[in-house]
Amino acid sequence: MNMILLGPPGAGKGTQAQNIVRDYGLVQLSTGDMLRQSVASGSALGQQLKAVLDAGELVSDTIMIEMIADRIAQPDCKAGFILDGFPRTNEQAVALDALLDEKGLNLDHVIEMAVDDAALTERVTGRYTCAKCGAGYHDNFQKPQKDGVCDGCGGSEFTRRSDDNAETVANRLKEFHEKTAPIIHYYRQKGRLSQVDGMAAIEVVTAQISTILNGGGARV
Ligand code: ADP
Ligand code: AMP
Repeated sequence: MNMILLGPPGAGKGTQAQNIVRDYGLVQLSTGDMLRQSVASGSALGQQLKAVLDAGELVSDTIMIEMIADRIAQPDCKAGFILDGFPRTNEQAVALDALLDEKGLNLDHVIEMAVDDAALTERVTGRYTCAKCGAGYHDNFQKPQKDGVCDGCGGSEFTRRSDDNAETVANRLKEFHEKTAPIIHYYRQKGRLSQVDGMAAIEVVTAQISTILNGGGARV
């Protein structure tokens, strides 16, 4: 099974992707994580990418399409994958369709996670991640059971993203509405789109997604 989680920054794509990995054994392909790894590597490309990420702008379609094509070609993706953060433009959506066609792969689900803009800034600015295993948390909405200790691996070091500040979030939301929201219509027209209420509690959203993946829920 191959699928896309589609939604604005802070919609809960990464949170739900981790649950889908746990429950369905798919591989999470987060283009944001891939780009941050490239920045952390200190390469010349990474340095250029850092400026784009910190400004809350989109990286070029050419770079992103090549990055995802290389990743999908890797053997672990045969188990099925969740695209988290890709596609983000119409050009990326069209290129993805061509890539999947060429490889004879299906796109089984495109799930839109709808969240009000007003909730997103609080979600993004309160987000943090376990430095050891990558589990996601939130200052108010998803705290570890024991303060300062990761539920997943027991790690005690956490990181926050440099682009998760109110100013950059405003630009990321602007980019979402201008460039990414139109692809919701692209998938709706193709009859592939399902929708969940991303404003609901995390476990409620997980249940809504499971219903869709198990063959229930109407296309919108
Ligand atoms: P995205 O990957 O779409 O940018 P995340 O999954 O990282 O978003 O979620 C952003 C933040 O909001 C995280 O700190 C996460 O714990 C929290 N979060 C995710 N889903 C919900 C939800 N349904 N309700 C409240 N907080 C949520
Ligand atoms: P994310 O982790 O999905 O919030 O992405 C973080 C940042 O990485 C974004 O604000 C963009 O700068 C960049 N990015 C991630 N995915 C893409 C993509 N598909 N196209 C363009 N830029 C992207």
